Amino acid sequence: MSIKENLQNVLRPIPSTVTLVAVSKFHPASAVQAAYEGGQRIFGESRVQELEEKRPLLPVDISWHFIGHLQRNKVKYIAPYIDMIHAVDTLPLLQEINKEAQKHKRTIRCLLEIHIAQEESKYGFSMDECRNLLKSEDWEQLTCIEICGLMGMATFTDDTETIAKEFSTLQAFFQEIKATHFSDKPYFKELSMGMSDDYLIAIEQGSTMVRVGSKIFGHRSY
Ligand SMILES: *Cc1c(COP(=O)(O)O)cnc(C)c1O
Repeated sequence: MSIKENLQNVLRPIPSTVTLVAVSKFHPASAVQAAYEGGQRIFGESRVQELEEKRPLLPVDISWHFIGHLQRNKVKYIAPYIDMIHAVDTLPLLQEINKEAQKHKRTIRCLLEIHIAQEESKYGFSMDECRNLLKSEDWEQLTCIEICGLMGMATFTDDTETIAKEFSTLQAFFQEIKATHFSDKPYFKELSMGMSDDYLIAIEQGSTMVRVGSKIFGHRSY
């Protein structure tokens, strides 16, 4: 199957209200180009250097999303053009993104990453950490970022009930945060959850953005 056919198959069950981010990490620019020719415009990358190498080879109207863990000292490279940063997991990172966005007279859309999986992970806020961050109001002085919603990853398991439960927990938390801190901010509307193996479950649980890689581009060789 070609990338274009894979893309069509992935898109078919996705409602028009849900955004597909095609995750092209570890795949060459030619693979991105093939999906672009199939109509895809939003692509996700998780390593700064790889993104920096690929981007100049590709059409300028691509919307690039950064979906991986982002180090503060790398924000400056992507700040001129990145459309959305999905995995913001500390206040200092948010402040750095704001600072770099300001330099370029931009507003950068961000999502806060929430840790919902059972696996240990260094990354992502717990729900309480996120509540505390938003209570502190430090973030409200950051005028060059927009917190557009939340992002999360489910446990890596075949147990669809566990996955659905985790996504449903994140969706409930999204509603709570929206009501308590963003009721006057219409841009707070994105819930980024779902990957190749669980994006249909995620959509059933209220995802508005799915990040799908291998189902479109095939397996990654690291
Ligand atoms: C790699 C990656 C994806 C895509 O994973 P697939 O299983 O290949 O669809 C989605 N989100 C994040 C954060 C990733 O790092």
